[in-house]
Amino acid sequence: MTDELPRTDAAADSVGDTQFAAGEPLLRIEGVAKRFGTFRAVDGVSLDIKSGEFFALLGPSGCGKTTLLRMLAGFEAPDQGRILLGGKDIAQALPHERPINMMFQNYALFPHLAVRDNIAFGLKRAGMARADIATRVAEMVALVKLDGLEKRKPDQLSGGQRQRVALARALARRPQLLLLDEPLAALDKKLRESTQGELMELQRRLGMTFIIVTHDQEEAMTMASRIGVMRDGKLAQVASPRELYEAPRSRWIAEFVGDINLFDGESKLRDGHRLVIGTRDAGALVVAEPREPVGAGKFSVAIRPEKVKLSRRGPVREAGHETAINQLDGVIADVCYLGGTTTYKVKLDAGGMLQASVANSARLDVDAYGLNQPVVAWFTPDDCVVLPS
Ligand code: ATP
Repeated sequence: MTDELPRTDAAADSVGDTQFAAGEPLLRIEGVAKRFGTFRAVDGVSLDIKSGEFFALLGPSGCGKTTLLRMLAGFEAPDQGRILLGGKDIAQALPHERPINMMFQNYALFPHLAVRDNIAFGLKRAGMARADIATRVAEMVALVKLDGLEKRKPDQLSGGQRQRVALARALARRPQLLLLDEPLAALDKKLRESTQGELMELQRRLGMTFIIVTHDQEEAMTMASRIGVMRDGKLAQVASPRELYEAPRSRWIAEFVGDINLFDGESKLRDGHRLVIGTRDAGALVVAEPREPVGAGKFSVAIRPEKVKLSRRGPVREAGHETAINQLDGVIADVCYLGGTTTYKVKLDAGGMLQASVANSARLDVDAYGLNQPVVAWFTPDDCVVLPS
């Protein structure tokens, strides 16, 4: 977070009409690092962002997301590395000289200025003609649906309306790249969800490049086409939402993104494209061979709760197979009804605990399981991810 109020709208044109070759990324971050004293807030980040992308930086509090964004906007200087926009190093460009704008977590609106003057601020500062400013402000007001509220001051607006003013102000100078630091954090859940859709629609319509910082994984998954997960100043994985969720690269990412069952074990034997991993808490599990082949050693088997199916005790037939390959006996130890789904905790006979998330596809609870009911929990080898321990 930051307090540089007047600068937030200050994208200017000196680097503004950046030209770049087809295929070249709009933004290239090369080995960027930033220390505060001895603390490495950003620790050697490299990343390419394509023009028109909606990219999310996701990570726990303090992992360096905002610091990275501030370096892109020019509010912090990297200690190491380069930031190239359209192939041009922007290290020396001041924030208002970059065709990049940043929308701040706290919106940073001027409390004494009306909505239209907040939106016009950066345009005036850049010396745009009055008539053009009026046209642009009207355009922005219509774009973010603030019609009729132009004369109000920020304290006469709701949180959602303030968020729109901040967005209109950030977009007014048509930056090539818009950085959004937790733009929806102040909104309640319903408003957040509808605004997520509006932001995506706006980004598509304007054909702009957005980088959003969030610590809310659902938000990142909903909006972004690619997500960079940061941990301790480093990029731990950059992938599409689906890849991040279904093929996490490490235990840490698997646990950070969504809920997951993890069983530690050792690779026992290979059977064609399958591995058998002996686990302490769930017995032997048959898993599909990962894309990058694994040798002998210690592994964790990861299974998302919605991949786990439950059946009453007895042999389980899986489509295409005589019996399901991974069948674990257990009893229901906890039931949590969540409306659309029910989460069951199954105490496995092998000793561990397994979470299953079951869609409530019938209104009546004919398929529900009760506490202490014996069940079989089962899943396919393809539903398992093998991760280094
Ligand atoms: P959050 O989600 O809580 O906003 P973040 O991932 O955006 O966190 P940053 O704001 O980038 O994290 O901060 C990264 C680390 O650098 C934190 O530990 C923070 O305390 C530290 N830090 C940030 N700015 C400064 C500063 N000006 N001086 C010293 N330390 C700082």
